[in-house]
Amino acid sequence: EGLVSAYASDAERDAEATVRPKRLAEFIAQHRVRDQLDLLLRGAMKRGAPPDHILLSGPPGLGKTTLANIVAAELGSGIRTTSGPVIERSGDLAAILTSLAEGDVLFIDEIHRIAKPAEELLYSAMEDFRVDVVVGKGPGATAIPLDVEPFTLVGATTRAGLLTGPMRDRFGFVAHLDFYAPAELEALLQRSARILGVPITDDGAAEVARRSRGTPRIANRLLRRVRDFAEVRADGVVTLEVAQAALRVYDVDDLGLDRLDRAVLTALVDSFRGGPVGLSTLAVAVGEQSDTVEEVCEPFLVRAGLLARTPRGRVATEAAWRHLGKPVPNGTFS
Ligand code: ATP
Repeated sequence: EGLVSAYASDAERDAEATVRPKRLAEFIAQHRVRDQLDLLLRGAMKRGAPPDHILLSGPPGLGKTTLANIVAAELGSGIRTTSGPVIERSGDLAAILTSLAEGDVLFIDEIHRIAKPAEELLYSAMEDFRVDVVVGKGPGATAIPLDVEPFTLVGATTRAGLLTGPMRDRFGFVAHLDFYAPAELEALLQRSARILGVPITDDGAAEVARRSRGTPRIANRLLRRVRDFAEVRADGVVTLEVAQAALRVYDVDDLGLDRLDRAVLTALVDSFRGGPVGLSTLAVAVGEQSDTVEEVCEPFLVRAGLLARTPRGRVATEAAWRHLGKPVPNGTFS
């Protein structure tokens, strides 16, 4: 795992728990989503009924799991957490659904990867709060209808486009989380530093924020690494100079790109003359899975204006050549 991968390892999940906001008011930025969620939850509480099902979409590490837990906390409800790939058989899902207590939140991460039969079972649970569990096989099979307590499904996906239409239609509220602005990540880092007891200057926090690829998970991770550096090689305070020296050691460049990001750009520029090139060809060239390149590298490279997705494939922008310190080829952008 690269230092700026937006995915979390299991060990990292423990470190994250310490700084994870528990209530909506502590959740930094994403004001529109926060405001809409606040209304949705308050409205439901006023009526004494569970709120509509909620779909959260956006790149990894932007706070979907955090928000799902916040929804439960704000409602004062219990939460059950599972993920699409884990639910292989519809029976697994039926067992979870029928064990929910009234008003519980069911959080399904990576909901776009749920198996088809389980997905169909989920439809009826979401719509009518009942499921038909099929017992037996062949002509003797019977469907036993089971009631499900009223619950709220919170689904998270990195790829809202991969959800089936019927699935998307069953969510009453869809929120798209976008990358955070540097100033927002700076506020997030100040909060995390306070919780962790890490002394950090304003320009130190701004530097780490600027290089965190717009992603809270990466900001918190870089803060932990920069803290190590500050404690071992300096006097413990994260200043601008300490942040810069630490990020150099960890190979995070000026824009926050890591090795894989740079490998993708370099391959695009050097091996494919800036493209267009197909995703799978590009992924093979850097020795990575297409999914990783598409879900982890590309959203930020696009956002940073270094790469464009076109119908004919991926292309490098003029800024990509500049960022890699290579001469921009003549005629490419005129
Ligand atoms: P994944 O889908 O990979 O689990 P995610 O989008 O669910 O990613 P989270 O696990 O919720 O991301 O967040 C990653 C880390 O960033 C957590 O430690 C969380 O505390 C922190 N974080 C995310 N968003 C915010 C925010 N708005 N304010 C403060 N901390 C945040």
